[in-house]
Amino acid sequence: MIVDVHAHCWPPGSFTDEFIADARRMRASAVDLLTPYDRYVEHLPPGEDVTTIVFGGKARLSGIWVNDADVADYVAQAPDRMIGFLSVDPTQPGWEDELREGHERLGLRGIKLLPMYADFYPQDERLDPLWRYATRHQLPVLLHTGTTFVAKAPIDCTLPRHLDAVARRFPEVTMILAHLGHPYESETVAVIRKHPRLFADVSALVYRPWQLFHSLMAVHEYNVWDKLLLGTDYPVTTVQETVAGLRKLTGVNIAGFSLPAEQIERLIYRDSLALLGLSDVHAARPLEKVTT
Ligand SMILES: [Zn+2]
Repeated sequence: MIVDVHAHCWPPGSFTDEFIADARRMRASAVDLLTPYDRYVEHLPPGEDVTTIVFGGKARLSGIWVNDADVADYVAQAPDRMIGFLSVDPTQPGWEDELREGHERLGLRGIKLLPMYADFYPQDERLDPLWRYATRHQLPVLLHTGTTFVAKAPIDCTLPRHLDAVARRFPEVTMILAHLGHPYESETVAVIRKHPRLFADVSALVYRPWQLFHSLMAVHEYNVWDKLLLGTDYPVTTVQETVAGLRKLTGVNIAGFSLPAEQIERLIYRDSLALLGLSDVHAARPLEKVTT
């Protein structure tokens, strides 16, 4: 089984025009910001059984807002294939109500945060109720870490080192640092190595293969392969593109340095649901394979 821990549900109207204009800097070629699930399924590797963690995102400053009810509806298209996470923007009134609503009424199973896009620090004491709630209900928290194309989002809020400050105070919370914190991957490696409940995903990195090769060499040298999870950042990349891009890196040899193919395969097939405490979702599903 493959678990994609990072895919988006972005219904029409999720972004302001300013965000859409900035998003032209996302990849070298334009990205279609719509997220139909049938297109996601079309780009699964043939014959693979894939489970996907899906979320929208809320960040008023940057012009991103997806209601959690829309995420729950999206997941309802294939509830045995998808797990939904709620989002909050803690700079906005009502976020604590949205946290409870998303979890308790909509049945969403984790939390997505966008500190830089919304302009807050994850270790700010005003977020303590969120970290306490995540601890109490064992909700994994996935945070965007790493840079952005959005002009007004403050990069300082996104640095992986801030999660060290959170993890020292809330060590039981499971966190995923998205995108390996690019281009601060070494900082991410330093943070996930010291905290047992902290992981990083490799979403939206395969289309910068030179940088990803070097980042994974740092992962190798610090021996944190087991803390890496597969993710796509769909619609930015697909499962097929991500898996193929990772495998291609095993053919690289620079002055005798190369990535161990067996670690890349373990990353692709890692049981992230077990690591995130979400295995019960998988256990409930039927055994038949996805047909693509
Ligand atoms: Zn994303």
